[in-house]
Amino acid sequence: MTDRTDLRTDRRVDRALLLTFDDRHVREWAAVAPLFARHEARVTFFVCEPDRLDGDEVRMLRRLADDGHTVGCHGLRHERATDFVAAHGAGAYLDREVVPALESLRRLGFPARSFAYPCSARDESTDRLLLALFERLRGGLPAGRRADPSLADELHVPAAELASRRVLPGCSVDSGRGGVAYDDDLTGVETALRRTADEGGATTLYAHCVADAHEANHVAPARLEGLLGLAADLSLPCVGFDELP
Ligand SMILES: [Zn+2]
Repeated sequence: MTDRTDLRTDRRVDRALLLTFDDRHVREWAAVAPLFARHEARVTFFVCEPDRLDGDEVRMLRRLADDGHTVGCHGLRHERATDFVAAHGAGAYLDREVVPALESLRRLGFPARSFAYPCSARDESTDRLLLALFERLRGGLPAGRRADPSLADELHVPAAELASRRVLPGCSVDSGRGGVAYDDDLTGVETALRRTADEGGATTLYAHCVADAHEANHVAPARLEGLLGLAADLSLPCVGFDELP
């Protein structure tokens, strides 16, 4: 059996499922660490409000990072980048929303080399701003399209572009929010995963809390099992943002 450290340092990632989780659901993420381990999956946690993590949450997040997962930045107060810049300017956005979040994560021991846009709100000018601070950014595609096979045309990043593309589109795989259940049909997501396995490159997915029911956006553990099982069947590694070339 290959040591995980060897996997991270020796194997060049040429195809990947990038499974990501947003906001600050550290307890629920830590609870499914065994599920990730069972599938040899490493994922990315994009954390907002890092200054509001309690001691237990910091320890859990460190443990997840020690397991090989990536911790990235999701802003200090979950501000929508485009709205904040329009209202207060680019300098204020960096000074009040981004740099304090990044510094807080780094003080806690997380390098946070990638950033996920809250609510996927971005444009080319916010990309330019943030790419001065981060190696990669994650945006989003409309979740309403996830049943549509043509979603894969935008969601799948081709192998030839994997090293150079610094803004990766993601698609939600959340199961629901509060009492609202989202459409179960993930045909577009599955199409993108099959194409990634066949042709190389990457497909990025995102969710929030991990639970069967939660007031916030959440993905059911059974759905994660299904997605990671499909990736395993396709021999598609699930890796964190920090493992990309
Ligand atoms: Zn968020």
